[in-house]
Amino acid sequence: MEYKLLDGKATAAAIRAEIKQEVEDIVANGGRRPSLTAILVGNNPASKTYVANKEKACADAGFTSKVIRLPEETGEEELLETIRSINEDPAVDGLIVQLPLPRHIDEQKVIAAIDPSKDVDGFHPISQGKMLIGQDTFLPATPMGILTLLERYNIETKGKNCVVLGRSNIVGRPVANLLSRKGYPGDCTVTMCHSRTKDIERFAKEADIIIAAIGIPFFVKEDMVKEGAVIVDVGINSIEDSSRKSGYRLVGDVDFDKVAPKCSYITPVPGGVGPMTIASLLQNTLKAYKNRK
Ligand code: NAD
Repeated sequence: MEYKLLDGKATAAAIRAEIKQEVEDIVANGGRRPSLTAILVGNNPASKTYVANKEKACADAGFTSKVIRLPEETGEEELLETIRSINEDPAVDGLIVQLPLPRHIDEQKVIAAIDPSKDVDGFHPISQGKMLIGQDTFLPATPMGILTLLERYNIETKGKNCVVLGRSNIVGRPVANLLSRKGYPGDCTVTMCHSRTKDIERFAKEADIIIAAIGIPFFVKEDMVKEGAVIVDVGINSIEDSSRKSGYRLVGDVDFDKVAPKCSYITPVPGGVGPMTIASLLQNTLKAYKNRK
């Protein structure tokens, strides 16, 4: 089958250009720039890269941004105090705390300390609760990016069987909820599979749409997929590759080379969901800015 790529890189670039234009118009009319603050605790190399990418994306879009870097040994109370002071800072529209946090800090307590009106990661229980009952709120960036990608490619979702692989709070669970909501993109019949699901293959084979968010390279094989399926591969896994200078390369949860020919649409990794996640964070920050005006 001739498959088409769901090109997250190009779609995200288009969204980022739209945001940049909107910010230029705001500033030309005398408005201030949207502003994002990120808190990074410790030295996790992946977290450092993610935060640097977000900082660059903000600069490109014409946002002001600030990264507060705190040492690994920062105490929970000190972090909570930092969050409270940013909550009260009228110059800041959006606040994110890069996860994971060091083990001595209670992640849920930290997330709950963020002012929901600045919760542009959409992880606060109020944001998650509003999402669950379909109220307007900040959606978590990765699920939101997945929905936007499906929307921009006009992928039909109404009445489709959608199988979500993974049940994490940041990807699997919210994306399953969003795709089951009324309206577009939604109205799917969603099955959520996870590490305790028996016979995942059986569910996956029935799926018109598969969202793979497990974190196991090449988990989704060609015999698990029906002809014409739409596949969104969220996984980002590093595997050894001696042909690369770095010695590794990034792959998704789907065995792309073998699975893609069976699909109607599929995301590449990299260049699929990853760039959409950053674009969604910018969209949320612009939304927070507009809500506060
Ligand atoms: P997680 O580790 O929190 O959750 C993994 C989920 O997969 C769990 O719910 C678990 O039940 C399920 N699972 C594990 N083993 C399984 C198995 N053998 N069979 C079925 N289900 C199984 O991961 P996460 O944070 O949701 O991330 C998933 C993947 O997506 C990771 O590779 C991560 O790096 C990637 N990710 C990418 C983006 C992006 O922007 N592209 C954002 C977030 C996460």
